[in-house]
This record gives sequence, structure tokens and C-alpha cells, in this order.
Amino acid sequence: AKELGSNSMLFYRPEMHTRSGERFAIGSALKNALGANEFFLVYQPQFRAGAQRPVGVEALLRWRHNGEVITPDRFIPLSEEKGLIVEVGEWVLRTACTQGRLWHEQGFSDLRVAVNLSARQFRERTLVPMIYEVLEETGFPPAALEIEITESLTLSNANSAPNILGALKEMGVGIAIDDFGTGYSSLACLGRYPIDTLKIDLSFVQAIGRDPRVEAIICAIVAMAGTLGIALVAEGVETEAQRDFLLGRGCDVIQGYLVGKPMLPQEFDAHFASGLLP
Ligand code: C2E
Ligand code: CA
Ligand code: CA
Ligand code: CA
Repeated sequence: AKELGSNSMLFYRPEMHTRSGERFAIGSALKNALGANEFFLVYQPQFRAGAQRPVGVEALLRWRHNGEVITPDRFIPLSEEKGLIVEVGEWVLRTACTQGRLWHEQGFSDLRVAVNLSARQFRERTLVPMIYEVLEETGFPPAALEIEITESLTLSNANSAPNILGALKEMGVGIAIDDFGTGYSSLACLGRYPIDTLKIDLSFVQAIGRDPRVEAIICAIVAMAGTLGIALVAEGVETEAQRDFLLGRGCDVIQGYLVGKPMLPQEFDAHFASGLLP
């Protein structure tokens, strides 16, 4: 037994310590990040075919910590685990709606703002009243807000999802399914919930020109969305070939590095808003 004990030390590797150490450090820094004003949002524009001005933006969270900008993949999972995402998510929504209101006042009168929602937020009983309150406080029109959820979120909240999505719908808030096609329940989702928009996952978009079967799936999604009266946004569009394929097949809203990177509000203004004010 003793030998087994010392043997098990062989499995200890320094990077284990480093990894859990980083996790720990990030975890405690995350707790203070909101109060320390370290979060900010970037906005990625979405364009309709041929248009110069975006029809919408997706708000994406960033964390400025120790002089480094950290992307959500590195801190959202931990924020969810620790429940911090509830408070952070409210900050995201309030900040995005405040910015959206500003853009509306500057002349972007029908710019839509999409905000990502995590599964953990979905479990909060206060989610719907929180959204209602933020819309009221910021004066941002519900119809210009779109909440992005994933299929797995609806799956893990199968009991509450119909009520929550129904309430949002009643409020006039749009609902988008993010990463569409990558989950287990894509089609069930469409039958069950009041979905306004499907976001075609970037893994599909990246297969354009490479995998005819994925191209066929995209065409089927476009046809289905058309029949159901659901809007489409293709995400992760990086090449002209991808864009042309999508526009040619009838997916008419494009998001991706090709047409616009996630940007700060002032960058967005410099690109699109100049000349809008009287
Ligand atoms: P997502 O919602 O699928 O967001 C799209 C991601 O693709 C973003 O990564 C965006 O920067 C990136 N992207 C945009 N255009 C392109 C492109 O042309 N090519 C490629 N390869 N990527 C592109 P980001 O900003 O790092 O966000 C990652 C994920 O973090 C998001 O995936 C979303 O699930 C989550 N997230 C971001 N902001 C929030 C938030 O405020 N709340 C919650 N709960 N999750 C968020
Ligand atoms: Ca999203
Ligand atoms: Ca997505
Ligand atoms: Ca994603």
C-alpha cells in the first residue's frame, strides 16, 4: 500500500499544479472583475446582402485583466460554475441595451442587438423580470433585442424553457438559436419554441467549398427556415466564397471577420455612424 502511495506520485506533473493554480487565480480574480470594471463589450456587426450599414450587432464579452484581454472561452465556463455569470450576464445585458439605445438615438433607428445567455442564467427565476427591468431602465425597445440561446440550454432546462421563452416572446424580445445544427435537438427545438432567428454555426460555414454534404445541409436549413418564417444569420464567414455561397442560397444576413470584426463602440461609430447625426 505504501508503495502504491509513492507510485501515485509518479503521476504528479508540474503542469497539473500550474493548471489548477491558474484556475484558482482566475477564479478569485473573476470575483472582483465586475467591481473592478474589468469587463467590456465588443460588438460584431451583421450585414444584409449588399448593405453598407449593419442590420444588427452581437455583443461579445471581454475581460481586461493584468494588461491582457481575455476571451470568454477562458472564463465563461468558470463563471458559470461559480454562479458569477448571473451578475455578469445582467451587466452584459444592461451595457448592451444602453449602447443600443445610444445607437438608436444616433440614427441607427432599427439596429438589433443580440446578447448571449448562459444556461446558468436561464435557471434563475428572476431572469424574465430582470430582462424586463433592464429594458425599462435603458429605454431600449424589446423588439430590437435578441437573446441568443443554444440548443443544449433548452435541453438542460426543458421544464422551464417553454415558459421563459414564451414570456420573452410576449414581451416582444427576439429569440435566436446559436450554433444551430451542432446540438442534439435542433429540429425538436424549432417545433417546440417560438424561435425568430437561427444562427448557422461557423463549423458549417467553414465547410463550404470543402464538403458538399455540409453544403447540402446548409441548403436544407435555409429552405426549412424559409418555410417556418425564421430569419437566418450565418456566423464565422471569413471568405468571399463562403459569403457568395450563403447569399446565393438565400441566407441573407452575414456575420464574420470578412465583413466586420468584433469592435469597441467607438470603432463601430468610426466605421458606420459618422455622418448620421444632423
Ligand atoms: P458565439 O456566441 O458562437 O460567438 C461567436 C464567436 O465567434 C465569437 O467568439 C466571435 O468573436 C467569433 N467570430 C466572429 N467572427 C468570426 C470569424 O469570421 N471566424 C471565426 N473563427 N470566429 C469568429 P468570442 O467573442 O471569443 O466568444 C466565444 C463564445 O463565448 C461565444 O460564442 C459565446 O458562446 C460566449 N460568449 C461571448 N460573450 C458572452 C456573454 O456576454 N455571455 C455569455 N453567456 N456567453 C458569451
Ligand atoms: Ca452567440
Ligand atoms: Ca455561435
Ligand atoms: Ca459557440
